[in-house]
Amino acid sequence: MSSPDGRRHVVIVGGGFAGLGCAQKLADYDDVHVTLIDRNNYHQFQPLLYQVATSQLAGTDIAHSLRDVFADRDNVDVHLAEITGVDTATRTVTSADGGSWSGDVLVLAAGSQPNFFGTPGAAEHAFPLYSLDDATRLRSRILGLFEQVDRDPSLIARGALTIVVVGGGPTGVEVAGALGDMLQVTVPGEYRTLDPTKARICLLDFGDALLKPFSDTAHGYVAKVLEEKGVEMHLGTGVKEVGSGHAVFSDGTVLATRCVVWGGGIKAAAVAADCGLAQGKGGRVDVQRDLTLAGSPGVYVIGDIANIPDQDGTPLPQLGSVALQSGAWAADNIIAGFEGKEVKDFRYKDKGIMAMIGRGAAIAEVGKNHHEIHGQLAHVAWLGVHASLMTGTRDKIEAIIDWGWDRFTKTGGPHVLDRGDVAEIDWDDDPTVSASVPASGPQAAGTVA
Ligand SMILES: Cc1cc2nc3c(=O)[nH]c(=O)nc-3n(C[C@H](O)[C@H](O)[C@H](O)COP(=O)(O)OP(=O)(O)OC[C@H]3O[C@@H](n4cnc5c(N)ncnc54)[C@H](O)[C@@H]3O)c2cc1C
Repeated sequence: MSSPDGRRHVVIVGGGFAGLGCAQKLADYDDVHVTLIDRNNYHQFQPLLYQVATSQLAGTDIAHSLRDVFADRDNVDVHLAEITGVDTATRTVTSADGGSWSGDVLVLAAGSQPNFFGTPGAAEHAFPLYSLDDATRLRSRILGLFEQVDRDPSLIARGALTIVVVGGGPTGVEVAGALGDMLQVTVPGEYRTLDPTKARICLLDFGDALLKPFSDTAHGYVAKVLEEKGVEMHLGTGVKEVGSGHAVFSDGTVLATRCVVWGGGIKAAAVAADCGLAQGKGGRVDVQRDLTLAGSPGVYVIGDIANIPDQDGTPLPQLGSVALQSGAWAADNIIAGFEGKEVKDFRYKDKGIMAMIGRGAAIAEVGKNHHEIHGQLAHVAWLGVHASLMTGTRDKIEAIIDWGWDRFTKTGGPHVLDRGDVAEIDWDDDPTVSASVPASGPQAAGTVA
């Protein structure tokens, strides 16, 4: 189990907020050897994926090489591998290509994946936003549609400028607001023939308010800002089918669209189910308060993939702050275990929540009393918090320059169409919608729009 040089060996699966936080803390202990395994060679900053998808930031601003993070730490090895097998009894993980790693301690921090809740066609045709790959695909689909409308404006009648955003949580609201800014502010300067008034952004949520965890005042503020940005809000409404060229809403509306963005929910990473780990709410792995798996000494499960109980037993939300703190806490417990000291139950420090709605508009709950702020101040707070959480100094500087550029100019950011696989569209592949459908404007339930 111990590494060849006799040091205690910790194997970590996943270099997200949780796994990276754990590895960074353990790296300070010279008598511990860490093997960090991820299917990507980079750490990605998920809260900013929507900014890559809407061309505000470049992909390299939010992804940082894991090898670079630990370049000056000779007690941390990074491996690129997709883990497909977990043996909790021997604390061993295996990859499909034959790799095998065993540790004195195993830490599972493999995060989440999109949950389409069995919605027909969603997995095939919708655009989730959970990885850098998802973000660049979505960016290319959006820009590809603009290019095609530039060539042939009649495609607007076939849904080329209709974007459906599923889910009124932070992901859906942030994407919808950024799309509104894109269409109203940055795109007209570059696509001069494209008429933004012909575009539709439809934001759907089954609930009765967007960004539910915030106050009623905040709900009113969010709705007002999004309306100003041209976003149509469809509350009490979900999507019951997604096709290559249409979406069907739960109220029966059929909409011609080539871009359905999925912010409708997440579930635990595939490794939880594939490896037979006992799953609780949302497919997440139930853990004890000290972040270990019951009956499996030396196995920690942290971040989004885990159902981590709060002090009163309720599972903590899947948030970057929970993931980061659980990673650091697991590292402390691992060291305590090696030193024969008592391990401690995880205590989450809730520092508040925040969400961006678009240029100059954000909401945040800050401080011990969760004081709520809106507008420019919240926008600045959001920028500060997110910049401080980014991994490398260079990433922080580049992101701040891109944000400043985006804020004070009307030019677009990196409008890079680099994914030909999603940019080109076969406009005759979906018989559900015909070429004669009306172009835009809110439609009555049950119509083809
Ligand atoms: C679009 C979006 C916006 C968000 N906005 C916010 C926000 O504003 N504030 C906030 O607090 N939280 C936000 N979150 C949530 C936050 O990003 C997550 O809670 C956090 O990333 C969880 O960290 P994690 O380390 O558990 O998982 P992840 O960050 O998902 O990392 C998991 C890692 O495991 C790797 N992995 C998965 N499976 C395998 C495998 N089989 N083999 C090898 N490697 C594997 C993945 O490649 C990944 O690097 C957002 C999430 C999304 C998707």
